[in-house]
Amino acid sequence: MDATEFRRRGKEMVDLIADYLENIEQRTVYPDVEPGYLRSLIPEEAPEEPDTYEDVVKDIERVIMPGAASPACTELETVMMDWLGKMLKLPEDFIAGTHGQGGGVIQGTASEATLVALLAARCRAVRMILASDPQRPETGITSKLVAYSSDQAHCSVERAGMIAGVRMKKIPTEQSDKYAVQGETLRRMIQEDKAAGLIPFYFCATLGTTPSCAFDHITELGPICNAEKIWMHIDAAYAGSSFICPEFRPLLNGIEFADSFNFNAHKWLLVNFDCSTMWVKKRSDLIGHWQIPLGRRFRSLKMWFVFRMYGLKGLQDYIRKHVELAKEFESLVRADQRFEISADVVLGLVCFRLKGSNEVNETLLKRINNGRKIHLVPCLLSGQFVLRFALCARTTESRHIREAWQLITQLAEEVMQELPH
Ligand code: PLP
Repeated sequence: MDATEFRRRGKEMVDLIADYLENIEQRTVYPDVEPGYLRSLIPEEAPEEPDTYEDVVKDIERVIMPGAASPACTELETVMMDWLGKMLKLPEDFIAGTHGQGGGVIQGTASEATLVALLAARCRAVRMILASDPQRPETGITSKLVAYSSDQAHCSVERAGMIAGVRMKKIPTEQSDKYAVQGETLRRMIQEDKAAGLIPFYFCATLGTTPSCAFDHITELGPICNAEKIWMHIDAAYAGSSFICPEFRPLLNGIEFADSFNFNAHKWLLVNFDCSTMWVKKRSDLIGHWQIPLGRRFRSLKMWFVFRMYGLKGLQDYIRKHVELAKEFESLVRADQRFEISADVVLGLVCFRLKGSNEVNETLLKRINNGRKIHLVPCLLSGQFVLRFALCARTTESRHIREAWQLITQLAEEVMQELPH
């Protein structure tokens, strides 16, 4: 949809809402539908090819209005989470409309999903211990609980531990392991903590870490968590959208061992903020506590519109284009002997730096950002100051990549003349 069509459609939508308000007295106050009414009115899966805008808008009256305002809100959310879960080829356990016991819920942010999972894991751990030792005081259990995440995990994981009032330990990662948590390291920490009387209960794995887009080895970590009855939550805030493409789906292998999984559809799947999609393997672990607020927004409407107007193929193309552009940027960096690539380029993030001191790279970053044409956010990888080039805008083209690189190299030349490196 270009700007002209968006203007036109936007005005049509205002008319539709105004008509609704003007004629609201002619509508029934209480819906006359049975629970589950909505699922049978729409397809079981997202379309491969785009639907027309007219088709989607027509369906508002047919699908949504009979169940306005709830249950339509809850039901569309459940079905959209199934659509998306199927696009990701999640195991059936996570899909609500199957024989499995799981399902999806939209959270506002990945931080909330991590916290909700942690709280559910805490409840489950306490319940399991009390089942075998009913006399044990609950406070004595929670004070012994220990959760884990990678030292590369987002700070929201540490914050979730603080809010939940549980000990959170960071698992060290190495450059030689591509900053991924190793099964052996997790196993050792669990054994040491158990020997010290602690109770390991939660592990937050990251697929696509914030600094370098590293992937924890969940095929190795998952069985360890399952054997130890540790809740494995997977935070794929950024990378998760890419798993709708068959070529990136192997990055999610091991999901079958997870208790919960989350990514931000608002990050890279063209759904506007906020829309953080979370699945659990067992709904009963969350029932009553699906999210922190009680009230719900009708966020699944925007998923419905986006999935239908792009179709699965359109969304896959969008992801692929960004990855291709990231590869193009990577090739430009690799072709210039003054620079180096600091981490594998798997998706749309390129970590790179000038060969040389942190100071020279910090100065380069300042020059780039002061220029106000492109904005890079740095990170530290094994003590090295690294620049991060992230593809995230809908309209980015090859020419933007080339222009950005020209600017970066021009500024790098200036910096290298001024500073020893
Ligand atoms: N997890 C990872 C891996 C992230 O990269 C981010 C943010 O960039 C987050 C969590 C936090 O996301 P949110 O702002 O949705 O809480």
